[in-house]
Amino acid sequence: MCGIVGIIGSPFAAKESYLGLLMLQHRGQDSAGILSYDSNNNTFNSEKNLGHIKEAISEEQIESLTGSCAIAHTRYSTIGKIRKEEAQPMLTNYPYGIGMAHNGNIVNVEEVKKDLLKKNKRMVLSKNDLEVMMNILAKELSNDDEFLSSEIINQAVAKIYETIEGAYSTVTILAGHGLLAFKDPNGFRPLCWGKRKLTDEEKGINQNGQEYTYAIASESKSLQFLGYESVEELKEGELIYITFEGVVHKFQHKKTPATPCMFEWIYFANADSKIWNKNVYQMRLKFGELLGKKLKSENIDVDIVVPVPDTSRPSAITISEQLAKPYREVLIKNRYAQRTFILNSQMEREKAVHLKMNVVAEEIKDKNLLIVDDSIVRGTTSKKIIQMLRANGAKSITMVSTCPPLIKPCFFGIDFPNEEELVAANKTNREIADLIGADHVFFLDQNDLKLAFNDLKTCMACLDGKYPIDVSAAQKMIDSRIKK
Ligand code: SF4
Repeated sequence: MCGIVGIIGSPFAAKESYLGLLMLQHRGQDSAGILSYDSNNNTFNSEKNLGHIKEAISEEQIESLTGSCAIAHTRYSTIGKIRKEEAQPMLTNYPYGIGMAHNGNIVNVEEVKKDLLKKNKRMVLSKNDLEVMMNILAKELSNDDEFLSSEIINQAVAKIYETIEGAYSTVTILAGHGLLAFKDPNGFRPLCWGKRKLTDEEKGINQNGQEYTYAIASESKSLQFLGYESVEELKEGELIYITFEGVVHKFQHKKTPATPCMFEWIYFANADSKIWNKNVYQMRLKFGELLGKKLKSENIDVDIVVPVPDTSRPSAITISEQLAKPYREVLIKNRYAQRTFILNSQMEREKAVHLKMNVVAEEIKDKNLLIVDDSIVRGTTSKKIIQMLRANGAKSITMVSTCPPLIKPCFFGIDFPNEEELVAANKTNREIADLIGADHVFFLDQNDLKLAFNDLKTCMACLDGKYPIDVSAAQKMIDSRIKK
């Protein structure tokens, strides 16, 4: 999972990209980068490094990123190592100069890589799947040496849709031409765009008579923060190409119904973002309401309802309303620790649970607790929290998850690829409770989750194994790694 931003038309494009990216820090913490393009002297400028955005890019460095177009990326690595060389945005010189960043995961990456070498003599140098996609785009745009029209760009993206299977939301600078963004035909990962009227000062700097600047970002929160309006989600298989003259071109290639990832609303996205027109906070309230209704019929003994901060707060509020039991925030988060799910090794995760939270012992002693979490993935966090609560005198602990049991791997950018690592795979609720040390465990039903999404069909493959696209190539790769 990653966060991306693209700006075209603002004299402060790099600065705006940086600020927009700060709103997406939760989407990736391995590395961050900004690439700007200055059309005055036809140059790219880039800064990228490992770590959080503020560590990776200093304010002084942003000053050197000139130009009215920029793209930015914060990375959570699912493919490729955590090395500076794998950090995005990536750049290729031919044709025109193409700079690109993406959020997602390419399922048939090895196959496409082999084809690129065999048929087109193009070698992919990094382990980052973005480089594969950038090569396909570069190859398609090199076919024609006429004027680079929106139709040629549209056809090049159509070729990507034909060739590349997986989840990908992208932003691309085409030097001398404009900013391109596109979403895969299933629309797995979020991507939205909007526009902002330039101020008189900005128009004075630009000196090109344009009225608007345009922005693209993984989540609407970035665009709202930057003051962009008319924010719209890109549809499945949709591309948007905005020229340096401010002309907006849109195309859609509809191969299949949209299946956005339900886990964005459950866990990943900012609570104040809107994805596919559904506000994340309101969806979390709904998940809690539906789970609360189910819990009511279970007659469990509960004194207080406690959210695991931060994602599950809205759901815990509506569960407490349904059960008519007090809501208490007695798990206190250490704001400066990383989210444990995003860390890359089991050892790092184990350490991080201790760093992450503390408990208000006075409020839980001799009480029956209902602990609400957004999901139970490996069970590591739940187990540690439960140990901490018991050590501080909790009488009983019922653990509930607003995500139904995760039983299958995700091949589309969320890091739970190995079935053996998923605590709920092939287990009953009783077995899961025993493993994590809870008295009881309950999950939101998948049917209730569908009910919450109402008219929007989402991907739920990690819950039921019904993958919206063929994942056999990625599955084979994982199986061979497990055997080794
Ligand atoms: S498999 Fe699960 S986590 Fe992956 S895209 Fe589908 S819903 Fe999201």
